[in-house]
Amino acid sequence: MSAPQLLENFVGGRWLPSRGEQFVDVHNPAKGEVIARTPLSTGADVDAAVSAATRAFAGWSETPPVVRARSLFKFRQQLEDHFEELARIVTTEHGKTLDEARGSVRRGIECVEVACGAPSLLMGYGLENVAAGIDCQVMRQPLGVCAVIAPFNFPAMVPLWFLPFAVACGNTLVLKPSEQVPLSQQRMFQLLEQCDLPPGVVNLVHGGREVAEALCDHPGIRAVSFVGSTDVARAVYRRGTQAGKRVQALGGAKNFIVVMPDADLERAIPTIAESFYGCAGERCLAGSVLLPVGDVHSEARERLIEAAQSLRVGDGLDPSTQMGPVISGRHRDRVLSYVDLGIAEGARLALDGRARKVPDQGFFVGPTVFDAVSPSMRIGREEIFGPVATICPVRDLDQAFAIMDGHPNANATSIFTTSGKAARDFAHRASSSMVGVNIGVAAPMAYFPFGGARDSFFGDLKVHGRDAFAFYTDQKVTIARW
Ligand code: NAD
Repeated sequence: MSAPQLLENFVGGRWLPSRGEQFVDVHNPAKGEVIARTPLSTGADVDAAVSAATRAFAGWSETPPVVRARSLFKFRQQLEDHFEELARIVTTEHGKTLDEARGSVRRGIECVEVACGAPSLLMGYGLENVAAGIDCQVMRQPLGVCAVIAPFNFPAMVPLWFLPFAVACGNTLVLKPSEQVPLSQQRMFQLLEQCDLPPGVVNLVHGGREVAEALCDHPGIRAVSFVGSTDVARAVYRRGTQAGKRVQALGGAKNFIVVMPDADLERAIPTIAESFYGCAGERCLAGSVLLPVGDVHSEARERLIEAAQSLRVGDGLDPSTQMGPVISGRHRDRVLSYVDLGIAEGARLALDGRARKVPDQGFFVGPTVFDAVSPSMRIGREEIFGPVATICPVRDLDQAFAIMDGHPNANATSIFTTSGKAARDFAHRASSSMVGVNIGVAAPMAYFPFGGARDSFFGDLKVHGRDAFAFYTDQKVTIARW
């Protein structure tokens, strides 16, 4: 085993050691071994990055959008050229399977591709003769220095939800990866060095809570984009907005999947199982509670158990693996504590993942199914963020809606049905922001808005697509008479 890699910050176009004297170990969760050490940077590191970004803003904001887009086209090519390498880094630091990692890098690249459309997407609009001889024009202008604070579960993809859009709009950026998965970001910033971006346009500061808080407080930062758990999202939103910043904070989730009695289970269950167990349940869009309607319950449960049992659990780098480990030993223990809790709460453990033979090393949890879960149980309400499915049988769609609407999170909901009317009614009534119809993971598309509702999202403008261009710019109205 080689010595763990010691990571550096990227500030003003240079790799610099962090001033922090404390470190967090980065593990390969499939093996449990330490592969890198993330420095916990300090307020002084944040100051240096914000200063570099502020200096770069003067020139970058005046750079024609088409020239800014040229750098993003180069970045896109770098990501394509290093696609497999990046996917392997994601699997190594996070644990998800190589196919899942490839999918996440692909989604990230799509964000870069959409951001390359900045010259068109940044266009304003105008009207002649708002009064005799007076014309009116609206322009979009960049904000300044923007911050991104990322979670652990999509190490490459989530930063790409923001970086390309912020930069395409003419802003400069300070990014803090999750301290648990900094390696793909480290590599991505090396690739950004090849893209003709002036020094200071993009900056990387490693660290944990202190760096995130310093970014929220820093007077030199105009906007904060955050993704993580609900409590932290709420705190970041409050802190950032209190400091006068524009903030979008995406939080946690508890996603419901309704199965109607007329659903085609042959097709539905593999998709549903993928939703529950893909990325070992560590997806903000993962299915969490199955709501089978009426008498579809027992067949849906049996088929889900069968699908869960058949999953090959192991190292994500092994191409035959279908489910990898969870992120850390601490998180594994937390997920397992929910299994104990579910039993104590009186739910029926229909498939005990603890009995599954898993590799000795690494942070594995076998796929688990709880039946007879009630919405008042903690396992039916709290985000477990692991491969634990909970089944809460319901009488009808109205009861399903009462449960979904009564939950504080509203990230995604799905329905499985062969009835167009049921699907249409569901999509119309759903209070979540993402709705799947015969789709287990209503995944974000780079050109459509994405973000949850209620406690899954704090802010106004969502991420991706036109909202991203709106979030990262101010509108200016000029009224002119000559
Ligand atoms: P987390 O909230 O623990 O950490 C997210 C980021 O915030 C990290 O960079 C971390 O260093 C920082 N942080 C931690 N505590 C902080 C604090 N008190 N103040 C300021 N910053 C702090 O989340 P995580 O465990 O890394 O990620 C998993 C969570 O993210 C899950 O709840 C998941 O649902 C959510 N998530 C949501 C979406 C979405 O689109 N809504 C997407 C991915 C993940």
